[in-house]
Amino acid sequence: MQTRVLGVRVDAVTMDKAVEIIEAFIGGGEPHLVATANAEMVMAAQNDLQLAGILEKADIVVPDGAGVVWAARYQGCEVPERVAGYDLVQRLLARSAACGYRVYFFGGADGIAQRAAETAKVWYPGITVAGVRHGFFTPAEMPGIIEEIRVKRVDILLVALGVPKQEKWLAANMRELDIPVSIGVGGSFDVMAGNVKRAPLWMRRLSLEWLFRLLLQPQRAIRMLALPRFVFAVLGAKKH
Ligand code: UDP
Repeated sequence: MQTRVLGVRVDAVTMDKAVEIIEAFIGGGEPHLVATANAEMVMAAQNDLQLAGILEKADIVVPDGAGVVWAARYQGCEVPERVAGYDLVQRLLARSAACGYRVYFFGGADGIAQRAAETAKVWYPGITVAGVRHGFFTPAEMPGIIEEIRVKRVDILLVALGVPKQEKWLAANMRELDIPVSIGVGGSFDVMAGNVKRAPLWMRRLSLEWLFRLLLQPQRAIRMLALPRFVFAVLGAKKH
C-alpha cells in the first residue's frame, strides 16, 4: 500500500516485505531503484521536483525515518513499522551472503567503501563483494566508473553519495548500469566502516536518532533544521 507524506510517495511495508520485494527484483533482472524516505528527503523533495519525480517512479520507497512513519500515521495511514535504510542494507547483505548475490559498494570518502566491504565480509561470511569505489569523481570520470561497475555483473549496487546526489546519479545511470537492484544508502558505509557511530537502540526506540546525530555531528545542525520544518509542515497540512 502506498501513502503520501507532504506529497512524497512512501510505501507502507514492513522490513520483511521490503526484503521480499527487493529479492524479487533480483530474480526479475530489469533495473530497479530502491529509495529510503526520511524527513530530510521529503523536505528536499518539496523544492526539488527532479528528486520528487525520481521518488514517484522508484520501484519501492521505504519509510526510513521515524518522522516519516509518524507523519503517515498522523494522517491516518497504517505504516506497519519503520524500515531504516541502514537496517535494510544489513538485511540485504545477509541475504547476499546466503544466496550469492554480488554486491558493489560505491561512494563515501577514499577508503570508506573498502572498509565497509571488509566489515561486510566479517559480519556476513561468504558474501561476494563485486567491487568498491569511493564517491568523489569528476564528470569526465563517470563513463569509466559506469563501465567498471557494469562489467562486475552486480546484483545489488549500494550507492553512498548522500541525498539527493545518489538518487539523481542512479536515476540518470541505472538503465546503462543494468543492475537489478540499486539503492541509495547515504551514510551507511561511514557507519559500517566505524567512522560514524549509530545511535544506541534505546535512542532509536524513542525516535531520538536525530538528537544523537546532532550531538555527534553538530555541523549537521543547519541541515537538521529540515526536521522541525517537516513537523510543522505535516501539522499544518492536516488542518487544511
Ligand atoms: N559523498 C560522496 N560523494 C559526494 C558527496 C558525498 O561519496 O560527492 C558521501 C559522503 O562521504 C558520505 C555520504 O556520501 O559518506 C553521505 O552521507 P550522509 O550521512 O550525509 O548521508 P545522508 O544523510 O545524505 O543520507
